[in-house]
Amino acid sequence: MMVAPAESPQLHAGSVARDARKWASIRPLPETLISQIAAGEVVERPASALRELLDNALDAGSSRIVVRLAQGGLDLLSVEDDGGGIAADELALALTRHATSKIATLDDLEQAQSLGFRGEALAAMAAVAEVDIVSRRAGQPGASIGAAAGRIGTLTPAAAAQGTVVTVRRLFHDLPARRRFLRSPPTETGWCVEVFKRAAMAHPHVAFSLWQDGRASLQYSADDSAAGLQRLADVLGRSFAEHALPVQAQMGPLAVRGLVCRPTAARARAEVQQLFVNRRWVRDRVLAHGVRAAYADVLHGALQPQYVLLIELPPERVDVNVHPAKSEVRFRESQAVHQAVFHAVQQALAPALSGRTEVNSGGPAAEGASATAYRGSRPNLPFATPGMLRQSALPLASRLQAYAPLEPSHAGHLAESASPNAWPSEQLDRQATTVAPSQPLGQAIAQLHGIYILAQNNQGLVIVDMHAAHERVVYERLKTAWDQRNLPTQPLLIPAGFAASPQELGAVQDHAETLQALGFDVAASGPASLAVRSLPGLPGPADPVRLARAVLADLAEFGTSQTLEQRRNTLLSTIACHGAVRANRQLTLGEMNALLRDMEATERSDQCNHGRPTWRQVSLDELDALFLRGR
Ligand code: ADP
Ligand code: MG
Repeated sequence: MMVAPAESPQLHAGSVARDARKWASIRPLPETLISQIAAGEVVERPASALRELLDNALDAGSSRIVVRLAQGGLDLLSVEDDGGGIAADELALALTRHATSKIATLDDLEQAQSLGFRGEALAAMAAVAEVDIVSRRAGQPGASIGAAAGRIGTLTPAAAAQGTVVTVRRLFHDLPARRRFLRSPPTETGWCVEVFKRAAMAHPHVAFSLWQDGRASLQYSADDSAAGLQRLADVLGRSFAEHALPVQAQMGPLAVRGLVCRPTAARARAEVQQLFVNRRWVRDRVLAHGVRAAYADVLHGALQPQYVLLIELPPERVDVNVHPAKSEVRFRESQAVHQAVFHAVQQALAPALSGRTEVNSGGPAAEGASATAYRGSRPNLPFATPGMLRQSALPLASRLQAYAPLEPSHAGHLAESASPNAWPSEQLDRQATTVAPSQPLGQAIAQLHGIYILAQNNQGLVIVDMHAAHERVVYERLKTAWDQRNLPTQPLLIPAGFAASPQELGAVQDHAETLQALGFDVAASGPASLAVRSLPGLPGPADPVRLARAVLADLAEFGTSQTLEQRRNTLLSTIACHGAVRANRQLTLGEMNALLRDMEATERSDQCNHGRPTWRQVSLDELDALFLRGR
């Protein structure tokens, strides 16, 4: 509604008058302009056109899809498929707005299994580019049709294989306003490749190939493994796959599968964070938060987990008609989906020391073997490879094949290298146990600068970050105790009082139950002070005030947004950090060995609560190399 300047002097009179002149009379927009405006929502750039064309090819049940790009899709973009095809007498309709074969009623919309359903994509492309379709249905003659600037050309017979080829040329060529938002061909190519890879990840059974400016650039043969994880590894490449763990979980009607990186492979940037719902790539904060929460336990807040997760659920439980580009969805039960993702990822990250799975990155040589490896892989099953020892990130780290008994030459080497004067009783012990395969972290030999434990195992030297390792062991123990509702508590002989902030006082009131469950007795001892009377039971001494304040800070930050399960991990992690041995504490060899044994028995002990590694292996070969021995 226009407001006349005289009636509203507070408005900028000048601009209103100008606008009023421009919009003096109301008239309907020309049909072409309507289409072009609408097209803007669907086709923003070559990559969004490609997404629509791929969706159509996939909806047509294709088993092989070929994509061709010229100049990043700005000159030419085509998708060829071997799907069901379009009947000649429906070709013109396919290019018409709001014409679709995929839904007919509102009920169909709720049940839609197809990627498309709005009947807008081809029409949108025809409004802002030149579009050609050649198609043939099985048992029918082929035909082709063209369209440009919103006008549909004439139908002509065409020789064609079964399936469809849609070619889009000169996108936005006649629309300078839209063209200005396009980027350089390499950048547009990059976005197209991303869209291509997403489609390939979501549809492992379909073979995909991509040609760029006449050259073959990417090729994925059909992945027939049940979970389709090989395709993910193929698309994401060796460096991702090497650090990935498989996710495969079924919770009622909801399935979650994919690959997640080990926490030690997390990056500062969110390079690979891909989510799919019913084979549709989506952006979704609920799902992303679920993944993040699963990593919260093992990853420093500044690092980004890398993952690809594909979620499948009955179509009526998710609304896909939220966004014209269909990249957002709404879940009917978003909390349940959040929890499912959280648990699936958490489970995948949990394999114990002896139970790591490895994902091969494929390639011709690895294909057969890795496909079978996926089939059997489920989290928490023991696998043959002691993957925990495969810490290939540092140059010094060695890749151990297995805990094989020492070869004689190595045994002699070890005996020779052990100092005859140090710790006589332990040394006897050590020589007796150097070949014990049950002690992969070996026997402690010394403490270095109050920070590291040095130990000797069959392969050579083990270096342990004492605090980080102990923190992880304490944390896992606290979690077990919490789950068994039997967290020990440790009363203080003399209550520890401190001046408290309003937030701290509030947290004590708001979270009384949680504090009690954690073993804390903290209560107000004045209008602005708190007193700690008991603490969670911890293996070492902890500063009661510092520990209490850290936990209160966590509680104040949570508010009421997280589930108790998620809070548990943050809180116990804080407590573990305060309860773990500090740097510079002298440990006896017995204490060090006890810690090594605890690490071996603890889930996820190869990294601390912040995702840093807790230990490293330096092999004898690497030590030899340092001293140019045997060369
Ligand atoms: P939508 O996919 O939402 O139905 P589109 O404009 O993308 O809308 O496509 C219109 C119709 O054209 C589709 O419903 C489908 O029947 C047909 N169509 C488009 N592309 C293909 C294809 N590659 N193979 C078979 N049919 C297709
Ligand atoms: Mg479509």
